[in-house]
Amino acid sequence: MTTFETLGLSPALLRALAETDYTTPTPIQEQAIPLILGGHDVLGGAQTGTGKTAAFGLPLLQRLAKETPPKGPRKPRALILVPTRELAVQVADNLKTYGRHLRMNVTTIFGGAGMQPQIDNLRRGVDVLIACPGRLLDHMDSGHAKLDAVELLVLDEADRMLDMGFLPQMKRIMGRVPKQRQTLLFSATFEPRIKAMALEFMRDPKQVQVAANSTIAETIAHRAHPVDNNRKRDLLVELLSKRHTDQVLVFGKTKHGCNRLAEQLAESGLPSVAIHGNKSQAQRQKALDAFKSGRARILVATDVAARGLDIPNLPLVINHDLPMVAEDYVHRIGRTGRNGASGEALSLVSPEEGGLLRQIQRMLNAEITMDVVEGFAPSQPVRLDAPIPKNGGGQRRQPSGGRPGARMGEQKPGGERAPRKAAGHRGHGKPADRSAHAHAGPKQHRSGAGRAPGARPATRA
Ligand code: AMP
Repeated sequence: MTTFETLGLSPALLRALAETDYTTPTPIQEQAIPLILGGHDVLGGAQTGTGKTAAFGLPLLQRLAKETPPKGPRKPRALILVPTRELAVQVADNLKTYGRHLRMNVTTIFGGAGMQPQIDNLRRGVDVLIACPGRLLDHMDSGHAKLDAVELLVLDEADRMLDMGFLPQMKRIMGRVPKQRQTLLFSATFEPRIKAMALEFMRDPKQVQVAANSTIAETIAHRAHPVDNNRKRDLLVELLSKRHTDQVLVFGKTKHGCNRLAEQLAESGLPSVAIHGNKSQAQRQKALDAFKSGRARILVATDVAARGLDIPNLPLVINHDLPMVAEDYVHRIGRTGRNGASGEALSLVSPEEGGLLRQIQRMLNAEITMDVVEGFAPSQPVRLDAPIPKNGGGQRRQPSGGRPGARMGEQKPGGERAPRKAAGHRGHGKPADRSAHAHAGPKQHRSGAGRAPGARPATRA
């Protein structure tokens, strides 16, 4: 049996893993760790929830720890580019946990937070820099972030960075990182644009893949309730009031919609908090803490804000609105039914969303059961041939307007906020039960069923 020892990890890392209750490597860790330790470029097909952070984080730390850092102020030797600040924080927390017995400075850089503390951290010296592209460029342009010592470059959730229009920024950053380096790219999909990136930025990458992202765990019961748009909130209240599920994650479409919904649910006696891209990091953390501690039973979130959040397994996910990108359906409902637990996912579908439902069913290659809730039958049927709303569809979003690739929370140097593009999230919890991918294609590695992943690493301040 493969263990972390047999993968060749150092005693300091093994100790940290034992303390974190990671007993067995997940499939992506099994595959990627030896390749990365061997110095290869790795193209990893894995989404969040599979243990991919440790898959690249452990060998990255080991490689850095082996070398004595060059004399003088420590410049980043590893750069991890991520699409969102939540993911940046999460990756940093994980790396700090894994590297707790190594002397490694791990620092984050993202928009929506003060520049000065980030500059101070850069000045103090950094070994591993985890950054969102926009803000990193600001620091590079002002001369505070120097990338000429980078030996290891990780592009995490590369597909999402492309969705968010970060390609130009990524290219600029890549141009400033030494060519002689090891590059690791993780993406949920290996679509043509990811392959093009790999060709451009990587050297003979080894490909590893653990899961298809268009299958739903068999443990998740998911169905849809047709309902008129203007009655969705009443139906939601009805569903939530009838059930006594402890925690419910509700996905909404827009920031304002999420805010309003959380307020209205709270007014209906259902304690709720909202989390979206317009909220500051502190506000998001506060909302998340309220949810995790049970003070708020319901978390209403947009896809963007929900990405990178480490929300433990949930019993129920409700789509107040269908996602604009079909693939996000899988990510959203994958927040429930993890690790063999049973879960439920409900989608409120208005007649106008028939086209979106069609896209999702086409992607899943399966029909979603439609189930009318008594008293909430829509005024007209949900027709699958309905046109797709103008701003959505099965296509990935392309940036439009604003600074290319700019996101909420990534600030322009002048301080003005740039509009944020919506994008899907990756589930963030324990490694996904691989039975979720029982229908994975022949290329996909299928294993891990029955494995009992340990606890999450403790989050450090
Ligand atoms: P990730 O896909 O990196 O976001 O990881 C998902 C979750 O799984 C995180 O909460 C990790 O702490 C946890 N995790 C990662 N690898 C393991 C492992 N080998 N055993 C137990 N938990 C793990």
